Amino acid sequence: MKFVYFLLLMFIPVAMADGLPDLGEVAQTVMTPQDEQRIGEEILRDVASSGEVVNDIEVIDYLQALGYRLATNGPDNRQRFTFFVVRDNSINAFALPGGVIGVHTGLIQSATSESELASVLAHEIGHVVQRHLARMVAQQRQDAWQSFAAMAFALLASRSNPQLAGASLQAAQAGAIQKQLDYTREHEREADRVGLQILNQAGFDTRAMPAFFEQLMKGTRFYEGGAPSFLRTHPLTTERIADIRNRVEQLPYRQVVDSDEFHYVRAKLRATQGSPQQAIEWFDETLRDKRYGSEAAQHYGLAIARMRTNNLEAARQEVRWLHEHAPHHAMIETLAANVEASMGNPLEAQRIYQQALRTFPDHRGLIYGDADVLLATGQPDAALKLLAEKLQTYPGDAHLYELQSQAYTQQGKNLLRHQAQGEAYYRSYNLPSAVEQMELALKSGDGDFYQLSIVEARLKQLRQMLDPKDKKREK
Ligand SMILES: [Zn+2]
Repeated sequence: MKFVYFLLLMFIPVAMADGLPDLGEVAQTVMTPQDEQRIGEEILRDVASSGEVVNDIEVIDYLQALGYRLATNGPDNRQRFTFFVVRDNSINAFALPGGVIGVHTGLIQSATSESELASVLAHEIGHVVQRHLARMVAQQRQDAWQSFAAMAFALLASRSNPQLAGASLQAAQAGAIQKQLDYTREHEREADRVGLQILNQAGFDTRAMPAFFEQLMKGTRFYEGGAPSFLRTHPLTTERIADIRNRVEQLPYRQVVDSDEFHYVRAKLRATQGSPQQAIEWFDETLRDKRYGSEAAQHYGLAIARMRTNNLEAARQEVRWLHEHAPHHAMIETLAANVEASMGNPLEAQRIYQQALRTFPDHRGLIYGDADVLLATGQPDAALKLLAEKLQTYPGDAHLYELQSQAYTQQGKNLLRHQAQGEAYYRSYNLPSAVEQMELALKSGDGDFYQLSIVEARLKQLRQMLDPKDKKREK
């Protein structure tokens, strides 16, 4: 924890300036995987609450599933990975310490096939498993840290000041990152080689990698004016692409069909950006001209854009189209229930959520939606039953604990409410607030002996995590 603050404090001001920072002691620091993990979690905690990050659970779960599918086919199964989506039209993806990989919405939109999107993710995973960030530090590549700090700063700043964030992101991209977070050619070749293996083993179309990279290099693939900034941090050369192509030729040819989620997620991102009117026009046009990868996804996106203009009856019509023409899908059911909830039909929404959860018990869009409806209609007992069951599947999900805390609040149970909120903070990497909530839980005055001893034990554990020196003192 202190390590990352130290890094950020030390480098942010200089990273914004022209000169290289004086690295001092840190250059000699060998970054262990544990250090990397901690820095990654710190950054993740801060970016999670920034407006730049997409918080939609269906988008997150799609990208995580795609990322895990690739990562589990990688050479290092011990490495942890976390994927997140940055709302930014430029075409980019980047790896932070600790296996934390960020993907721009512009990349998801620009990829015309799932294998193309997977190509870039696999390349980033390649950088992570080869530990390129740590190796740059070890080789005292000061500039790598400078641009890393600049990027972290830009993301952090966006939380407190959106205007500043825009400016600093631009400054960071135009300046530090552009010049300095370029992996070496050797690192790029390595990430390509490892990434291609991963792509192949995970069952994707490997030809997508050289094809997509070539289009990026030629600048022929743009999305809504977003530049392919991937090129700045991962310099592409004709030689590099030829090298990938040679390797691809030795791999078996494979026809791959994109998942429905790939199309739905792209449509959802499209429907939620810019003005709803623009989105509606775009979906209407592509449907009229039959310019789409998936007709169902266009209707799905149109429904979401219609919801944004509060034209709920029109949204419901799109849902009806989907129910008649598209295969049964968790994202469609989540949408159908959301439309009903927005129309003031919570019981119908609840019916759809619960029926769909029987087919798709792990779909978090449905789980969150069902819990929301149960809480909104004053059914905390049913909400708690659902949450307890789903926490078995998702023990690390902070939002499920937040919902649990809301349910206990409705029941007037103060100890349990603060305890659940503390667990939510803990899972958002916010230890000080987790400790505070456990302290409030102890003071709540409505817990029995058994509950109090659980909270006490947990509080002790959290305090030790917050300040490891306490642990040593006790020994
Ligand atoms: Zn690269």
